[in-house]
Amino acid sequence: MATLQLSALQKRYANGFVALHGVDLAVEDGELIVIVGPSGCGKSTLLRTLAGLESITSGELTINGRRVNELEPAERDIAMVFQNYALYPHMSVFDNMAYGLKNRGVPKDDIRRRVNATAELLDLGALLDRRPRQLSGGQRQRVAMGRAIVREPQVFLFDEPLSNLDAKLRVQMRLEIRRLQKRLKVTSVYVTHDQTEAMTLADRLVVMNAGRVEQCGTPMALYERPATRFVAGFIGSPAMNFLPVTVHGERLRLPDGGELTLAAGLEAGSALTLGVRPEHLVALDEGDATPEGGAVIQATVEMIEPLGADTLAYARMEGLDELLVVRLHGEHAAGEGSVLRLWLSPERSHLFGDDDRRIEA
Ligand code: ATP
Repeated sequence: MATLQLSALQKRYANGFVALHGVDLAVEDGELIVIVGPSGCGKSTLLRTLAGLESITSGELTINGRRVNELEPAERDIAMVFQNYALYPHMSVFDNMAYGLKNRGVPKDDIRRRVNATAELLDLGALLDRRPRQLSGGQRQRVAMGRAIVREPQVFLFDEPLSNLDAKLRVQMRLEIRRLQKRLKVTSVYVTHDQTEAMTLADRLVVMNAGRVEQCGTPMALYERPATRFVAGFIGSPAMNFLPVTVHGERLRLPDGGELTLAAGLEAGSALTLGVRPEHLVALDEGDATPEGGAVIQATVEMIEPLGADTLAYARMEGLDELLVVRLHGEHAAGEGSVLRLWLSPERSHLFGDDDRRIEA
């Protein structure tokens, strides 16, 4: 049982580079927090400072209310699972899992009992005598998890644990980790590049950008109400479309000259950004009535990507430099060169100010 509290956590590396600019985050007991963000935003740095592998420059880290800034990694009661597994090649699966416990002087019988129970949990029982090189990638990853689990730590840290696995195995292991984490109820912080992994695993998602937390919330909250344009563009795949708009009275003028009623009380003439996700642009068929409110825009399809269940259309809208990305039903007949009539729903539109922050409209 553990809560984790990061208060104004700063990390400055020896060369003067500040990788974390005062991160605040409270991780609740048993919660799984997933950290995402572009390369170099400080995800690994954050994880390593939690583990005690990097020192904290300023701010405070507490576990269950106790300051642990100065504690060595081994004293923090945290177990970390790495992407490269870090297994000892010359040791059997059993010994790999038992290693940390032996080092701690845990009695032999206890070690055997804990390793066997964990092996059972992870379906590794038949593999305990093997060496790591005699295992598949997925099995190695499970041993790495097992090594963390036998320690019965207060906190798990995961550093992209699935990135070396193929796509199918990643999905399997993702479900496995979710199941285990819910069953063991160990407070966990998980770093990943993978959007789907992040959305499906997280109780709450933390989006980082340049050493700062941009937003923290449930995956659906971030998807539905991104607080900044950065989060809006980062969460969701394909990424949200952004359209430059200007305020004219009660209406927003779109790049093609069309108008949309969305915002009341915005400063006339101000330049804003309207965001709409590819799945929220509704393609109207010929003869379809125009829905109430919102706007209908026209776009000419330049490229089609059939994905099976869905088809992605990349379409040219007048006045917009980038192509609009539209997620169509897989059976939609749109071909290259065809013109789409797209309904822009006010409820599904997001508005961002010139400071890139969300405007509630
Ligand atoms: P990735 O997704 O590519 O792994 P990340 O979000 O995990 O990236 P970090 O590895 O935490 O990013 O690095 C954050 C920033 O700190 C980067 O700009 C990196 O160059 C810098 N950095 C990392 N380690 C050091 C170091 N030892 N000394 C100086 N700068 C460092």
